[in-house]
Amino acid sequence: MKTAQRLAYAVMEMPKEDAEEFAAAILNAKTQIHDCPICQNLTEQEVCAICANPKRDHTTVCVVEGPKDVAAIERTHEYHGVYHVLHGLISPLDGITAEHLRVAHLLERIQNEDIEELIMATNPSVEGEATAMYLSRLCKPLGVRVTRLAFGMPVGGVIEYTDEVTLFRALSNRSEM
Ligand SMILES: [Zn+2]
Repeated sequence: MKTAQRLAYAVMEMPKEDAEEFAAAILNAKTQIHDCPICQNLTEQEVCAICANPKRDHTTVCVVEGPKDVAAIERTHEYHGVYHVLHGLISPLDGITAEHLRVAHLLERIQNEDIEELIMATNPSVEGEATAMYLSRLCKPLGVRVTRLAFGMPVGGVIEYTDEVTLFRALSNRSEM
C-alpha cells in the first residue's frame, strides 16, 4: 500500500508524457490503483484498508484535500475515524467549484452511513477555509456535527509537511464550525 501511494504521488509530479508512459507501464503490470468507492482515497484493493477496517470509528469522517493528507494524519497514529478525500479544494479563481470535487459522494455518505461528525481538515489557506466553510454550511443542516482543525501552524502552512505533534494537537483541539 505504501509503495502504491508513493508511485501515485510520483506520477502527479511528472510531465504529462512521462506520466502517460508510466501509467501504461503500471497498467501492464496489472497494478490497479483506483479511488476507493467509499472514501475516494487511492487504493489497490476494492475498498481501501481504512474503510474496510471494522475497528475504525465509522461515525467520524475526516475531510481532506488529497491522499497525501490521509497519509500525514495516519502517521500521527492518533486518529481512529475514517476519511473523505475531496481531490482538490474549491477555488473560484481557478474555476474549481464543488462539482469538480467529491462533494456529491460526501453528501451521499451522510445520507447512507451513520456519520455523526465531519472534521474539516483542509489546509488553513484561502481555498482550504473556503472549502471548509462551504461544506459546513452544506452538511450541518443534514444533522452532522462539523468541526475544524485548530491549527498550531501559521496560515499558509501545509498539512502534508506538518510534524506529527503539531498535527495531533490540531486534531485534538479542533473546534465547532
Ligand atoms: Zn476508503
